[in-house]
Amino acid sequence: MDLGDNLAVVFHGVNDLRVEQRPIPIPKDDQVLLKVDTVGICGSDLHLLRNGLLGFYVAKPPMVIGHEGTGTVVQVGEGVSHLKQGDRVVIDTLPRCQKCTCCQIGRYNICSHPTRGRDTQTGGCMARYYAHDADLCYKLPEEVSQEEGAMLEPLAIALHACRRGNVRQGSVVLIIGAGPVGLLTLAMSKAYGATKVIVTDVSKWRLDKARELGADLTLEAQPNDSEDLAVQKITSLLGCRPNISFDCAGFQSTTRIAVQATASGGTAVIVGISGKDDMSLPVRDILTREIDVRGCYACVNDFTTAIELVATRKVDIKRLATHHYQMSDALRAFDELRSGKGNPIKVLVHIN
Ligand SMILES: [Zn+2]
Ligand SMILES: [Zn+2]
Repeated sequence: MDLGDNLAVVFHGVNDLRVEQRPIPIPKDDQVLLKVDTVGICGSDLHLLRNGLLGFYVAKPPMVIGHEGTGTVVQVGEGVSHLKQGDRVVIDTLPRCQKCTCCQIGRYNICSHPTRGRDTQTGGCMARYYAHDADLCYKLPEEVSQEEGAMLEPLAIALHACRRGNVRQGSVVLIIGAGPVGLLTLAMSKAYGATKVIVTDVSKWRLDKARELGADLTLEAQPNDSEDLAVQKITSLLGCRPNISFDCAGFQSTTRIAVQATASGGTAVIVGISGKDDMSLPVRDILTREIDVRGCYACVNDFTTAIELVATRKVDIKRLATHHYQMSDALRAFDELRSGKGNPIKVLVHIN
């Protein structure tokens, strides 16, 4: 079979991204080769470009960028029986070992020896062809397009966040940061029965999107406001303190505001990643008001539910995709997401 070329978007170092040819990967026995269809650009991809970090790990360039991808199976490894040529799949790229205690109890997102999945050496899926472990490919049903599939990973993260926060019928929720994960956490909180959700962000256009997705209240955050004033604005708009707060921005100030705003006995979930190892938190609030501060890392066993939610139209994920680029324009796609020009929420690159 003549597959043609393998144009790829390759990270060569901080602020050095190039579109260039790479060899077409040969799938191992337990892998499939995908003709990639759509790849979403994630905040973590921008984080990588800006400081060379994959979350908390140092990336080793050159590596193909991108992890929120879908594609069609074009070759199947000898040991793969559940996928065939022509299947449309979304990939799960979270590294895991399947052997450690965390993996064995099904919490592979906090695996202590992540060796599988996204390879930090050779990288991601923003390429015409990409080989992936077959058991980490989820088949898309007819009702879910490849474009929607490329946004399933942030939806899966939002689902995980809601589970970490224990959002339920009657919850009052604060979401700081209205990027794709914040917006989907909003949509999922409403789906779980939260009665009131307030979303804050510094960008007005993101708050417009939040209202479109069902936010009861929005607040344009003023970066110069003191933490006290920010908390006061949130609670007076809500008429009470939220019992669950999500920091989907990941800065020290936003995590501190999330903790301070939360009702006594409530939960503050840290979802956004700043890449900093340490931050100072208001321990007095955490201690005397018994605020549970919970970490939330990626997602775990959430893809199947995310696919079902989109297939049954419980969440209109398409509303997030504001910008579309072809592969030849991929560098512009990154630039515009970084600059915020044209008010982007989710930027998708159409590969083939
Ligand atoms: Zn992502
Ligand atoms: Zn493990």
